[in-house]
Amino acid sequence: MKLALFHGNRLGVLKNEQIIDVTAALPHWDNGYAPNWWLRMCHDFDEIRPRIEAEAAKGQGVPLAQVRLNAPVLWPQKIVAAASNYAAHVDEMNARGPYEAWMLQFGVFLKATSSILGPGETITLPSVGDAEIHHESELGFIIGKGGKNIPAERALEHVLGYTGVLDITVRGQGDRSTRKSYDGFTPIGPWLVTADEVGDPHDLRIRLWLNDDGTPRQDVNTRDMQVKIPQMIAYISSIMTLNPGDVVSTGAPPGVGKIVPGDRMTFEIEKIGRMAIHVR
Ligand code: MN
Repeated sequence: MKLALFHGNRLGVLKNEQIIDVTAALPHWDNGYAPNWWLRMCHDFDEIRPRIEAEAAKGQGVPLAQVRLNAPVLWPQKIVAAASNYAAHVDEMNARGPYEAWMLQFGVFLKATSSILGPGETITLPSVGDAEIHHESELGFIIGKGGKNIPAERALEHVLGYTGVLDITVRGQGDRSTRKSYDGFTPIGPWLVTADEVGDPHDLRIRLWLNDDGTPRQDVNTRDMQVKIPQMIAYISSIMTLNPGDVVSTGAPPGVGKIVPGDRMTFEIEKIGRMAIHVR
């Protein structure tokens, strides 16, 4: 099932290129300043899913082109992001030097949730002097039922679904959370695809094109991740409790590159979808 947020705070199911409004199926929906219903839906998805499916079956769809999508996450408590999780990306970062060794080893860090941006939206680049601002196109996932010290062999039971995450980054040696947390630096989307529909998350092609380039800047398969998602969840949850609705981004593939005002990124993950993000 493909779940989309649209028109601010409404829940839609994507079917045949149409968004069907299923908000009426939600027992806890509210349109408040900090809506809680999404987190409850993530936690109780198995119980709520039949109601959503029933609503989707009777609902009238609106063509995707007429809908303004939002990022398919609402008020996550945290965005956890994995560092350098593809060998070829570690190599390309080493070549840029001088990077500190710890930055090139697997680890996780946090991004501000206020940096989230929706599909089709525009990043306004901050003024950062001579530093370069790069795209990193990553597979992301959303936590359903949370947990602490989740064993790797049960970890995938905690994944509600998958989406795309662009981890926009100011290159440099300052604190990583600062360099990656400017407003707009975490485009997420275009929607969330539930785990059952994705199947194996380690067999997905990720591509990112810049402007009208025919050749993608990033073109990788998630099978090349060094630390796989079950081990990642076990590691993260050994440090911090994962809560419903939390977002985890699985680390940069090779091919990261500079973005400048006027650019358009087209980002696609197999079985998930495609979105464009503009740069100003
Ligand atoms: Mn990254």
